[in-house]
Amino acid sequence: MSRVFNFSAGPSMLPESVLNRAAAEMLDYNGSGQSVMEMSHRSKVYEEIIFGAQRLLREVMGIPSNYKILFVQGGASLQFAAIPLNILTGSGKADYVVTGQFATKAYQEAQKYGDIKLVATSKAQTFSVIPTLDPAAFTPDADYFYICHNNTIFGTRWPNLPQTGDVPLVADISSSFLSEPMDVSKFGILFGGAQKNVAPAGLTVVIVREDLIGKARKDIPTVMDYKQIADNDSMYNTPPCWSIYICKLVLEWIQQLGGLTVLKQQNDHKAKLLYDFIDASAMFTNPVAPACRSIMNVTFVAGSDALNDLFVKEAAAAGFVNIKGHRSVGGMRASIYNAMPVEGVEALVEFMRAFESRNS
Ligand SMILES: *Cc1c(COP(=O)(O)O)cnc(C)c1O
Repeated sequence: MSRVFNFSAGPSMLPESVLNRAAAEMLDYNGSGQSVMEMSHRSKVYEEIIFGAQRLLREVMGIPSNYKILFVQGGASLQFAAIPLNILTGSGKADYVVTGQFATKAYQEAQKYGDIKLVATSKAQTFSVIPTLDPAAFTPDADYFYICHNNTIFGTRWPNLPQTGDVPLVADISSSFLSEPMDVSKFGILFGGAQKNVAPAGLTVVIVREDLIGKARKDIPTVMDYKQIADNDSMYNTPPCWSIYICKLVLEWIQQLGGLTVLKQQNDHKAKLLYDFIDASAMFTNPVAPACRSIMNVTFVAGSDALNDLFVKEAAAAGFVNIKGHRSVGGMRASIYNAMPVEGVEALVEFMRAFESRNS
């Protein structure tokens, strides 16, 4: 068996020990005589998995007791509508900062449901920075203030959170989930698709402060209503059982490593290896303002379209796969989520060094 270094932005690498454990338990989970893929979500044995995953997530992220953890489906994209449907019900106003493609989608979706203000955008800088905010532009009576914490396509991350006072801060953390410690109490809602850093596709996690539950519009679809989901322990309907099980194994792996502080050190180290090499290189460049650089998605270009294409092709042949940038921006992107070992990043840097000397 030979495994590649997979730099995909998502779905992406999972820890090998988690995959091995899932393989070992595939036909007979914990003496139940069934695979997790086959079992009823209402069974005792499955309850231990879903509640275990929620308990572990609370421990690992330090989620305060006045927040609920919801396991839902529909991807992060469904939350672009679910958030306004659930909480855009006071003044009917919300503030959005548009820092990339997913923030744009969220902003557009929310406009269907209320009075949405674009507080700032870095579109004119091709999303290569997180914009500086003018608090005077914030809507004082907004129902919430929305950001995308890590911009997967453009490789940026918020260096500091906006100070929104009593207005709940809502953040899409799809691509920074579990990559570093986060003070959950600073947010009203945190949400993300699991397929970047937490589990296989199919699971979306919503962490929501209790006072924001129960405010939904009357015409909200029941499966999107946070109150229905919370009251039914994320089992109003069938949850994504398998993905939740892998999420639990990933959380156990994180705990064994020493938690999010240790992961953050590893992630900073991996990102620094790449950025330091790129900054010193005469061929490769990264367009992102250093303070705003993502530690999960590192974008770079080689100087010409021909060199970019050659790089992607030769990298794939050498076992560095899915390193092509998003179709909307081109170039390259190395997504280095938690499960990417430091050896993978070191090997990529060596490959880039050799590529540069061959081609200059
Ligand atoms: C991948 C991604 C999404 C879209 O997630 P889906 O689960 O495919 O809907 C949204 N936001 C961010 C930041 C992402 O990285």
